[in-house]
Amino acid sequence: MTTAYISHADCALHNPGLGHPESMARLKVIRQKLEASDLWSRLVHCEAPEVSWPAVTAVHTPAYVESIKARFPLKRNIDIDGDTTLSEFSLDAARRAAGACVHAVDLVMAHAVNNAFCAVRPPGHHACVDKAMGFCVFNNVAIAAQHAMDAYRLERVLIVDFDVHHGNGTEHAFANNPKVLMCSIFQSPLYPFSGGLDGASNMVNCPIQPGGGREAIKQAIQKHWVDAIDQFKPQLVLVSAGFDAHESDPLADLQLTTEDYGWITGFLKRVAEEYCDGKLVSTLEGGYELEALADSVYAHVEALAG
Ligand SMILES: [Zn+2]
Repeated sequence: MTTAYISHADCALHNPGLGHPESMARLKVIRQKLEASDLWSRLVHCEAPEVSWPAVTAVHTPAYVESIKARFPLKRNIDIDGDTTLSEFSLDAARRAAGACVHAVDLVMAHAVNNAFCAVRPPGHHACVDKAMGFCVFNNVAIAAQHAMDAYRLERVLIVDFDVHHGNGTEHAFANNPKVLMCSIFQSPLYPFSGGLDGASNMVNCPIQPGGGREAIKQAIQKHWVDAIDQFKPQLVLVSAGFDAHESDPLADLQLTTEDYGWITGFLKRVAEEYCDGKLVSTLEGGYELEALADSVYAHVEALAG
């Protein structure tokens, strides 16, 4: 099993400001944790390319993309949403983040690797088609999914989102698109207060009450995801991998442990092996307690590479 680890130094330079939970330290602690282990030498290391603008506008409106580009060059941080900030290198970071995910799709579709993890920021799953939101500028996983459909003519792309927050931007991009099935678990109520059960039929939303942990999430997956995935029979699995459902995370109140990210990943790996020859691309979303984040990403990548 070969696993690509795709990142870029620019992703660490996006600086939403002192005290912001989506901090520059996040990628640093992840890298330090992995580098100190045997796992690091078993990964295929790739530099993330810059995403092409057509790949971005295949998901986002040209007007929104132009509005972001027009902010640069940028000398002083600027807020583009209640909690989304652009800094001097944010456009470079956002292009590398989306570019990592597109490149990862290319690698797994070419069988160059079995699966891939994109260690990138800013995250993406709250970014809507026409606006930034929730620390996210471009919707990395949505851009990767659309690329898979456009470049490889895929008819069935599964997006799994286990971030503690609902991936409203991804839902916005693909609600009622029969080529996409999105399965998610998230705490409810919690920001962004979306993900209702009355959504589009291709959105398998599983809200979890505050305080819920392994059992609640296992039950939701078993009850709601398994049959939907079996009926859909994905040709590619994409993962919005947020690690903020961890019991130590300061932004939410679910109770997953580091080990739980290992079994969730193992489950997703088996799904990919059963339906699509193991083809899986995972990308970093949230996770704000640095030690728990590094440990949980380690468990995730170890399971992917195992
Ligand atoms: Zn989150």
